[in-house]
Order: sequence, then C-alpha cells, then structure tokens
Amino acid sequence: MSDSLFDLIRERFPRDPEASFIETPGGRVMTYGEVEEATGRLARLLAEAGVAKGDRVAAIVEKSPEAILLYLAVLRAGGVYLPLNTAYRAQEIAYFLGDAEPRAVVWRPEAEAEIAALAGTAKVFTLGQAGDGSLMDASADLDPDFQSVPSAADDLAALLYTSGTTGRSKGAMLSHWNLASNALALHSIWGFRPGDVLLHALPIFHTHGLFVATNCVLLNGSSMLFLNRFEPDLVCRLLPRATVMMGVPTFYTRLLEHPGFDQALCGNMRLFISGSAPLLEETHRAFEAKTGMAILERYGMTETGMNSSNPLEGARVPGTVGYALPEVELRVADEDGRVLAAGETGVLEVRGPNVFSGYWRQPEKTAAEFRADGFFITGDVACMAPDGRVSIVGRAKDLIISGGFNVYPKEVELVIDEQAGVRESAVIGLPHPDFGEAVTAIVVPEDDACPPEAASLIAAAKEALANYKVPKQVFVMDALPRNAMGKVQKNALRERYKDSFS
Ligand code: AMP
Repeated sequence: MSDSLFDLIRERFPRDPEASFIETPGGRVMTYGEVEEATGRLARLLAEAGVAKGDRVAAIVEKSPEAILLYLAVLRAGGVYLPLNTAYRAQEIAYFLGDAEPRAVVWRPEAEAEIAALAGTAKVFTLGQAGDGSLMDASADLDPDFQSVPSAADDLAALLYTSGTTGRSKGAMLSHWNLASNALALHSIWGFRPGDVLLHALPIFHTHGLFVATNCVLLNGSSMLFLNRFEPDLVCRLLPRATVMMGVPTFYTRLLEHPGFDQALCGNMRLFISGSAPLLEETHRAFEAKTGMAILERYGMTETGMNSSNPLEGARVPGTVGYALPEVELRVADEDGRVLAAGETGVLEVRGPNVFSGYWRQPEKTAAEFRADGFFITGDVACMAPDGRVSIVGRAKDLIISGGFNVYPKEVELVIDEQAGVRESAVIGLPHPDFGEAVTAIVVPEDDACPPEAASLIAAAKEALANYKVPKQVFVMDALPRNAMGKVQKNALRERYKDSFS
C-alpha cells in the first residue's frame, strides 16, 4: 500500500474526466482527465531524465496550470518538489541549487541563458507561463499510463526553503504524510463540499498557495479559478463564481480599498480565509462590516504547514488564530522549554503529523529547533487562552512580512553592509498601509561627513535581492542603539521610525 500524496489525491478525482480542475480568467479549462494524463506523461519524462525516488526537482517558473501539473508529476514520479520564487536573483538561486542538488531543474524560458549555467549536472527543462517550453513539448508524445512510484508516509515529497536570521536559507523537508495529513485536516475543518470553487490568487512557490489551497481543492475533486496574481479588478469579476477564497492580509486590505468591491459580489461566497501574516483586527472588522462575512484566520509556517485555525462554526475572533488542528498539539513555553500557564506569553511549540522532519542536511540546526519530546519551536511569540485559543503576539526572530512575503533582515543587512561608505546597518519592518510592513534600512556611515546615498544603496540591493526584500526607505544614524549584551535594539528603531509610511 503506497502512502503517496499523489495516490491519495487521485483516488478522489471526480469520475467524470471532463470535470474542471483549473479555470483561468481567459476561459481556459484544465480537466481532471487532463491532469491524469499530463501528470502521467510528465512523470514518465522525469523518470526518463533520471529522476528516481527521493531526487529533487527544482521549479523556478511563473504561476501556471502546467506548474501545478509539474508539482503533481514530481509526486507521481516519487521525486521531491522544490519550488523557488522567480524573483530570486542568480546569486540566490546558485545557493539553493548547490544546497539541494536537484536531479532536474525547470526554468522560465526567458531565464534559460542567464542561469542554465547554474544547473550543473541537473537535467534542464523550460516552462513558460503559457505552458510553452521544452517540458511540455518533450512530454507531449509520451505514454500517459504511468504507474505512480510507491511512497511511504515518511518519504520526502517536498523541500521548501525558508530563511534563518543568519541569512542562510534552510530547506524544510516535508514528507508525503506531513502534506497529506494537513490537507485532510483542513479539507475537513473548513467544510469543503462538492461544488466548492476556490479563488486562487496566491503564488505557488509557497506553502499557502501550493499546499493549503491546491491540495484542499484536489482532495475535494473540485475546481479553482486560477489567477496569475492578485488583481482586485479581476478578483471582483470572478468572486461571484467562487465559494472560497484564501489570501494573505494584503488581499483583504486591497479589496476593501477597491471601489468596485461590495457585499453583492460575495453572494456565492461561503468562506474567506486569511493567513501567512497577521490580519489586523481593524481589517477583520472593516471586512465584516462591508460584506457581512467574518474572515477566518489561520496560522502556519513552511516547516509545519497549518497549525491552528479559527472555527468554521463558532466565533472567529479578530486578532486570534484559533485552535490547534485535529492531531496537532500546541503549547507555549519559555526559552528553556518550560511550559507556561494559559494566558502567559512565550514561544509557541508544535507537535503533530504536519511537522517537518528537519532541515535539509542541517542536523545541528534541526536539533536546535526541536525539544527532546518532539515539539518544534516555531519562533513565534504567542499566548494561549484557557480554552486553547491562540493569539500570535509577535515574532521572536524579527522576521519582516511585506505583502505576504517573508524577509529576513539579516540577508538584506549583509548586502547593505557590503556597500561603500557603510559601517553597519539594521533592517526592520515598519507599518505600511499597503504591504503590512515595509522593509526599511537604518545605516551608520563610515564617515559622518559623507553618508552613502539612499538611492545607490537601494540600487545595490535591487541587484542582489528579490524586489520584495529591497528597502523602501533608508535612514542614516550616527550609531545603532544597543543593549548591554551588544544586541541591536530593533524595537527602539521600530518605535523611532514607526510613522515613516503612514
Ligand atoms: P512561512 O514559513 O512563510 O509560511 O511564514 C511563517 C510565519 O508567518 C509564521 O512563523 C508566523 O510568524 C507568520 N504567520 C503565519 N500566519 C500568521 C497569522 N495568521 N498571524 C500571525 N503570523 C502569522
């Protein structure tokens, strides 16, 4: 008996091969019959390219229905899916590929010349947003009847890179059962039912759009309206046909600001879900006032998938992330791992079938983030009510979340510190009406008389980093505030510059 996530999903495909799985705003429909055949062809192509059990397949491609097929085909071939954000620059991609050593790499066709050299010995394919490129071409004539490679529950299904405060990214190893157990739990607690239509406007290189949204739809055997990105106009046009939407908080603030958005558009909707960053209570309330619907906030992370959710039936309390998912245990502990009483604030720890097995080739880092009894230390600061309801109060690791994307200050600081005229820097997130938080750099010049120019620092950051990590503003200070232990006091910086974007 195989515990492959692909087999679990396939068992639930609708009997009618003409049933729609993905519909694009342009009217293109991808049916479940096509998913069955195309993933068979692609899995065969990967196998012929040498992808065997446990081999990584990296995808650095734009969002498209074919990219979802690639994800499923990798599972079917017994491989390990490794999606990367297309915003990454060559330097960043070189690190990921060097670390993960994929057997095959799928690029965007337009990036082929620039980065093919980074692929090393991996087999290279291309996939464009329109489904063009060598991946689909080379598989077109292959036999779709491909026996899926059996996988055990603990076998790796995906490697998702997250970052650390040291600036080095770590690959979170996720097994078939990590993903399957989480998808089954979410499918159940969010009441997925026949005929549900999910509006999908999230990126698919991240756990939210790839696993939470897509796997729920697949387990439900139903369809999704698939947008390349979040565009309020398009969302408003398609909402009347959807029943469920999953989004980051920025989606909801943008909808609220959009003149065309109103209650009438939500007539068919049964559920709006938010996560990946804190949803402001203010946004929750404004959304409910406008639409009559309370956004359901949930909480999770790359390493664990989803951990908690507000209830489908019952109070969805603004500013809280609800209760532990079925089979998932949550507790709040102090730095030494002592479990705290209800109402006390500490670091949230989690144990359950959703929790990853460790960081790729980093046993020490893995060991440092797990307690002896198997609980994973999330690094999120939280407080749990006596009935188990969780509120996330902050982030222990100073992670910045800008427009739903995680930015680790250290990585940006390293780039800024390299620039001429910079002695040191501190990168913080400041409240921003659109992005939630805006990446901001505070720079100490080598020579007070001629501080580096903000524009040239921003330009240098753009060269080295994905756009969402680039500071939106740069401030100059004589010295960074530090505590007695020599640690930069980022809270003081946040306080000082807090109104910069309001
Ligand atoms: P990622 O690994 O990209 O999914 O980011 C995970 C981090 O996002 C968590 O560790 C939290 O800090 C944050 N996060 C996710 N969902 C929420 C939420 N509903 N409220 C507050 N923070 C959240």
